[in-house]
Amino acid sequence: MKILVLGGGFAGIETAIKLRKYGYEVTLISERDYMFIYPISIWIPVSKISFEDTKLNLFELQKKHGFNVIIEKITKIDTNNQQIITDKNTHKYDYLFIALGMSKVHIKGLENTHSICGKPDEATIIKDKLNQLVEKGTGNITVGFGGNPNDPTATTMRGGPAFELLFNISHFIKNKGLRDKFIITFFAPMAEPGKRMGKKAFQKMGGFFERYHVKTHFGKKIKEFTKDAIVFADETKLKSDLTLYISGGDGLPIIKETSLPQNETGFVKINELCRVENEDNIYVIGDAAAIRNHPWAAKQGHIAEVMADVSTYNFHNMIIASGKRKSYWEKLHIICVMDSGDGAAFVVRTSKKEIMIPLPIVGHWLKKGWGWYYKQSKMKRMFRIPGM
Ligand SMILES: Cc1cc2nc3c(=O)[nH]c(=O)nc-3n(C[C@H](O)[C@H](O)[C@H](O)COP(=O)(O)OP(=O)(O)OC[C@H]3O[C@@H](n4cnc5c(N)ncnc54)[C@H](O)[C@@H]3O)c2cc1C
Repeated sequence: MKILVLGGGFAGIETAIKLRKYGYEVTLISERDYMFIYPISIWIPVSKISFEDTKLNLFELQKKHGFNVIIEKITKIDTNNQQIITDKNTHKYDYLFIALGMSKVHIKGLENTHSICGKPDEATIIKDKLNQLVEKGTGNITVGFGGNPNDPTATTMRGGPAFELLFNISHFIKNKGLRDKFIITFFAPMAEPGKRMGKKAFQKMGGFFERYHVKTHFGKKIKEFTKDAIVFADETKLKSDLTLYISGGDGLPIIKETSLPQNETGFVKINELCRVENEDNIYVIGDAAAIRNHPWAAKQGHIAEVMADVSTYNFHNMIIASGKRKSYWEKLHIICVMDSGDGAAFVVRTSKKEIMIPLPIVGHWLKKGWGWYYKQSKMKRMFRIPGM
């Protein structure tokens, strides 16, 4: 039986590990030889962590868990012939797990911005640009995020990484003794950005903006980004020397080109078992999957791992015909520690409850601890805490 896992991110790695635990031979294909731990990459621009420390080498993981690793760029998912075409080879499969993440909505002039949710090396580019501005000693920094009107779940972590970067940058510049020389503005096209983390979380954001002396600019559609400004639909402009913008999520072109069932955004429609509708041998997990019937939910690494667990469990129980199954819907929730450089906020949202607890100082170390735990547990250097 030939099982392929596509993608070496949160979803792909956890799927390959779980399938190995069930005793299957698995091959993981990814375009880079490392997993990029996005949640801790927010500290690269403010020089609190190195790029190298944000990586988990796939060949090291292979040694620990025993799955095969192929580093190739996938160019076509050919479900009709059960094969994956890459820049170097064609790989046949009997069962397929797609964990390729997502793309971003294009806005005119996006090349004038940088995103902490883009390709990994963007984090280093942001760091360099920020340091250049700090050397100059003054400037306007704008940080924002957008959504995708076709899919309310498509904003990464409900904008959490944009808030994290924003507050970390403010804290970083304050530590340089230059906070009064910079204007830092948070912008978003929606009237109430962050509200999807929960009503309470949104109300408390005002306190954060005040504490970090951040100006806000909400509720105006973005027309385009230029080299030194954000231009809104009403032709007003926000001056910006460094624009950091996380565009709304969009389906990947190589997935849009397939005949797999998709929502309007290009995310693949799956059932609660994480299996593609009408395709018995294909599972889609993580950011690439459409989360339907739960509009408050968000794309998260945590949910990607839940989906990896659910899909592999259902796959294994189908193979052994046990009749057992699990649903990822029951496990959907938002849980995150939103870091601000010198503290954090603990955010939880489920269909029934919303919690946001400010955690000064200790929250920052909690998130740092999570990054350490994630690497150590994946490398089998410590036990896994159930559910993490
Ligand atoms: C800055 C930031 C902070 C975040 N903070 C948190 C947090 O605190 N908590 C949380 O739970 N989530 C957080 N998230 C969200 C989380 O990182 C994502 O939801 C998660 O990465 C999704 O995992 P994935 O495996 O589906 O996709 P990805 O992690 O994007 O992985 C996709 C994989 O597919 C590979 N790939 C893509 N296209 C191809 C191709 N054509 N050929 C070969 N390989 C390909 C990529 O190289 C990558 O290995 C954060 C995200 C960002 C960007």
